[in-house]
Amino acid sequence: MLTIMIVLFVILIVLVAIAFRMIREQIKDHRRLEVTYDGSLEYDKMNEKIKGTWLAVVIIIILMVGMCDSAKAGQPFRRSYQKSLDAHKDAIVERMMIKTPVVVRPFVSTKGHANRYSREIRGYMVTTPDTLYVYISLRLDLDEMHDVLQHEMVHVWQVDTGELRVLRNGWVFRGNFYPIDTPYAELPHEKEAFMLESNRIFRKESIHG
Ligand SMILES: [Zn+2]
Repeated sequence: MLTIMIVLFVILIVLVAIAFRMIREQIKDHRRLEVTYDGSLEYDKMNEKIKGTWLAVVIIIILMVGMCDSAKAGQPFRRSYQKSLDAHKDAIVERMMIKTPVVVRPFVSTKGHANRYSREIRGYMVTTPDTLYVYISLRLDLDEMHDVLQHEMVHVWQVDTGELRVLRNGWVFRGNFYPIDTPYAELPHEKEAFMLESNRIFRKESIHG
């Protein structure tokens, strides 16, 4: 992943260098035109060309800044982080006797990438018929990742026991349907998750090894 980033970065730097060279050439031509022509069509065309090249440079720079930003976000997620989160997850699976396979994965949330409750997404769960996926934001430090895992594992447990069903248009929790536009704070499975996430069964500190 990092190697791809570096290669892309080098390509972008080369592109910027080429663009700057082009601008320099164009400005040179431009000066020559200024001497020989006087408000001609050619002169206007040259102006447009220079504007276009500058626009390309600005776009490339924006892309580079974006790449640095996501590289920074992805940087802390080391193999040791995955191991630490997996150990935490496995311990909860054992204690809560969760039967459905659970996979923990990182994801990159871009700044301002918020859910419909307009808060940055720290983690979420995806349900498939045979596996449950817990996604954790790469923007968090390891302690925060464990906090998010605790919360999401309560949802995993709710789904595994059949108490929670995630539908396209809402949730079914203990036999009651809650439509997708129900305020977050009113969702009973969220209330339960916030209550149980700090229980020692879900906490990382109570896990040995
Ligand atoms: Zn939740």
